[in-house]
Amino acid sequence: MEEIVIVGGGVGGTVTANLLADELAAEVAAGRARIRLITDKPEHVYKPAFLYVAFGKMAPKEYRRPQRELLHPAVELIVDPVERVDTAGRQVVGESGKTYPYHHLILAAGSRVVPERTPGLAEAGEQFYTEEGAARLFQRLQEFEKGTVVVSVIGVPHMCPVAPLEMAFMLDAFFRERGRRDQVELVYTYPVNRVHSNPAIAQWAAPELEARGIRTETFFNVERIDPQRRVIETVEGNALPFHLLIGIPEHTAPPFLAASGLAVDGWVPVDRNTLEVKGHEGIYALGDVTVLPVSKAGSVAHYQASVVAANVAARVQGRPATARYDGKTFCFIETGNDQATFVEFDYQRPPKPVRPSRWIHWAKLSYNQAYWLTARGVM
Ligand SMILES: Cc1cc2nc3c(=O)[nH]c(=O)nc-3n(C[C@H](O)[C@H](O)[C@H](O)COP(=O)(O)OP(=O)(O)OC[C@H]3O[C@@H](n4cnc5c(N)ncnc54)[C@H](O)[C@@H]3O)c2cc1C
Repeated sequence: MEEIVIVGGGVGGTVTANLLADELAAEVAAGRARIRLITDKPEHVYKPAFLYVAFGKMAPKEYRRPQRELLHPAVELIVDPVERVDTAGRQVVGESGKTYPYHHLILAAGSRVVPERTPGLAEAGEQFYTEEGAARLFQRLQEFEKGTVVVSVIGVPHMCPVAPLEMAFMLDAFFRERGRRDQVELVYTYPVNRVHSNPAIAQWAAPELEARGIRTETFFNVERIDPQRRVIETVEGNALPFHLLIGIPEHTAPPFLAASGLAVDGWVPVDRNTLEVKGHEGIYALGDVTVLPVSKAGSVAHYQASVVAANVAARVQGRPATARYDGKTFCFIETGNDQATFVEFDYQRPPKPVRPSRWIHWAKLSYNQAYWLTARGVM
């Protein structure tokens, strides 16, 4: 029997499992293949909701679902945080001590924030990249009357590269709606010499920030935060005082990947088209754990899932594995005042944001609901 093991019950792992269950329905029914998804908690969380949680616009019942409900009945769900992958023995080892043998292994364990890597950030900074962080930021924003709010991109790469821009635009709208914008200075900082790592998005975003009176600081590499003085200190020797800091912390893939010799500098190196882990036959990685010149975005994990599922199914069925990932990425960008734009790009084509509109904002809100269908592999 062909053993297929998927690690991670986020968007990438869930879509891969469901597509494989469809493609390999006959093999699973005949006992020739088994699909097992191993994850670390019984609930599935839709992370893009956290941006809205910070503004009180989404509640847990909208962004959490039992993982089992999202999976095809032919997928076996195992809740057992992975401790390591024994690549020599071709088995996954769970924290429970149980082992899960594999012929085909798909790593989709996502990324996480590591604020502790920046001195002072955990004590003095807020963030919206976790559920708890977003809920706390909501409280801070309700209480905030006047002063300097800094949105600072500290760690790159990070999940959803456009989310800090969305946060800046939405803060501007939030304080305007409350009649407090003239008492709030908004500052957006970015580590390279433009406001976003993608030149086309940076070119679009710079005048949008300026038009809203949001001051920008580029080449701004945060070294430490001084929690007493409430100042950000940079590698370049600058000091930026703040009353409220929204810092995007450094990210990393889960530590078990490095401990298993599968991650280099925190991330898993893969072939940019087949998504096979370099130097490891039969192991694939997709979504946030990978190091590729694409966004750490749910859409990317979704597109990659269809490539990996098609190729693993082909291998199980003895067909050539021909599916290729072309770098396709799709991201909505909230621009505040119930408006949004979107970008669609790939390895060859750069993004071209379109004029923000209410229609696009409503499309993003609709997608937030339709996500539960896409996770099931329906759309
Ligand atoms: C605030 C915010 C806004 C965002 N907005 C957007 C957006 O608008 N559009 C967009 O496309 N993307 C957006 N994203 C990014 C998107 O959520 C991620 O890129 C996407 O979830 C990555 O999918 P993934 O499957 O790689 O990882 P995840 O969805 O993070 O899933 C990883 C899974 O692995 C599990 N796991 C972790 N460690 C272990 C372990 N040791 N053992 C077993 N299981 C483990 C986790 O619990 C989780 O179930 C946003 C993210 C944030 C934080």
